[in-house]
Amino acid sequence: MNQGALMYSGKAKSIFATDDDKTLLMEFRDDTSAFDGRKTASLTRKGLVNNHFNAFIMQKLEQGGVKTHLLSMVDDTKSLVRHLDMIPVECVVRNIATGSICRRLGVEDGLELEMPTFEFFLKDDELHDPMINEYHIRSFNWASDEEINRMTELTFATNAVLVPLFRDAGIILVDFKLEFGRYDGQLYLGDEFTPDGCRLWDAETREKLDKDRYRQDLGNVVESYEIAARRLGISTV
Ligand code: ADP
Ligand code: UDP
Repeated sequence: MNQGALMYSGKAKSIFATDDDKTLLMEFRDDTSAFDGRKTASLTRKGLVNNHFNAFIMQKLEQGGVKTHLLSMVDDTKSLVRHLDMIPVECVVRNIATGSICRRLGVEDGLELEMPTFEFFLKDDELHDPMINEYHIRSFNWASDEEINRMTELTFATNAVLVPLFRDAGIILVDFKLEFGRYDGQLYLGDEFTPDGCRLWDAETREKLDKDRYRQDLGNVVESYEIAARRLGISTV
């Protein structure tokens, strides 16, 4: 598969065309950002670690019945993916309250939820990714009722596959964000599942092994991603 023109360069990944218009090449870069792109940095090896991490998790999700865009990893920082028609909505599931839900609802940081909760956000940095509901999605025609139900179902299915996977590695899956897109009349999980888009806490110490290390200036950002990777059995050397 030949790498074609650069189609999109986002905050952390670049998307290239290939000779097949149903397939894209996704490059995980070392760039990182927080606070809707207002804080940025380059972190050596992050692209490599995230590409390997993402491929491992997407394979586990496929085995667990969640269809993903991943076709294959082509080198250390690039993967071949299905070219999806992305839905501009972020799906978040939380098992423990932290981050924006604590700021919004005034709940205690670290509170274990009675049951996982689900939220939609609009993918729009300029508007700071506002929280939205099913009615907004329908009224502005961002997705159909069927797609809303399917995104919800697939996000909970992802949680059900990944909570035990991380638990067995001594890690709590606190929360995560997913993005979906259309392909051949079906919804597929797109974008990425890496420590950039989820929260992972050491089960014993509650030490953070995710992007909060960058957001909160805790240091050892990529080193912590690699600790999580190694515990899952992902080779990043
Ligand atoms: P951002 O756009 O938020 O800066 P990234 O740097 O991660 O984020 O860029 C990746 C972009 O590619 C995102 O806009 C994402 O919605 C989009 N994308 C992810 N997976 C696919 C896919 N399979 N097909 C088409 N677009 C995708
Ligand atoms: N998240 C993300 N991209 C975003 C917003 C959130 O990947 O644009 C992830 C974030 O890493 C966390 C989860 O979604 O795992 C929930 O984030 P939250 O709503 O708590 O927002 P934050 O505290 O990061 O502002």
